[in-house]
Amino acid sequence: MDKIYSRIKKGEILVGDGAWGTLLIQAGLQPGECPELWSITKPEKIREIAAKYKDAGADIVSTNTFGGNRIKLKMYGLEDKAKEINRVSSYLSRSAVGDETHVLASIGPCGKLVMMGEVSMDELYESFKEQAMALEEGGADACIIETMSDLEEAKCALRAVQENTELEVVLSFTFSKSADGHNYFTMMGVTPSQVISEFGGMDVKIIGANCSLGAEDICGVISEYYQSEKNISYLVYPNAGQPHYTEEGIKYPETPEVFKTYVPKYIEHGARIIGGCCGTTYEHIRAIRKVVDSL
Ligand SMILES: [Zn+2]
Repeated sequence: MDKIYSRIKKGEILVGDGAWGTLLIQAGLQPGECPELWSITKPEKIREIAAKYKDAGADIVSTNTFGGNRIKLKMYGLEDKAKEINRVSSYLSRSAVGDETHVLASIGPCGKLVMMGEVSMDELYESFKEQAMALEEGGADACIIETMSDLEEAKCALRAVQENTELEVVLSFTFSKSADGHNYFTMMGVTPSQVISEFGGMDVKIIGANCSLGAEDICGVISEYYQSEKNISYLVYPNAGQPHYTEEGIKYPETPEVFKTYVPKYIEHGARIIGGCCGTTYEHIRAIRKVVDSL
């Protein structure tokens, strides 16, 4: 199988997958329960999610490892299971989708503030290294360092992946919109153009924006990325709008029909991988696939 980046260079637009957490909650994941542990306790459910995303038209499917580094798992007392959880999760996605679909393993933030000294750089590096190596061992061909807010944490994760694995890497940050609606910042105050100036020259060929913003608002981030650097390929995984909390649980307003109308705009702004984050489901991915195929 070609690498993700070489497929993009040949002119392909690739379709990613949608939310995992949302589907796990629908399947009965309880508040306070560790989502990643389901890879061990309910592997058939995890495999089903990966397989259904592939069936919906995803070229790239993720893994159930967003919170899979040992620092985050420690909050559940599961730090000693870090290696197993990552290896098994990666294997489940790979075995569900076969060898012709990319497995883009998820590496999320550690959940501690590096800037406040809550975790040392060495500890952080070792935890990302352990996670990335286990994901590679399980069968992933690529990884996405995702939902990042802090440049130092992202740099550390990137180094850990690049120095210890052959995984192709995507680096993705999450942004909110300023009150006046004109600017975008991560929780740590980083702008999209700062992300590009930090990582544009660091052998990172694919940079992304995921989560926090819905399909419309994320256009502003992608366009700021693209204006800063046109030679990088972009990934965009928006949420299905802002969640509403109702008696039946969390609801997301952006339907697949709404979502798909933004696809041409993303592509115009350099996006080459399009999928979804919180609140998106198989139907959103099916809708994106249809638009991409029609272009
Ligand atoms: Zn999300």
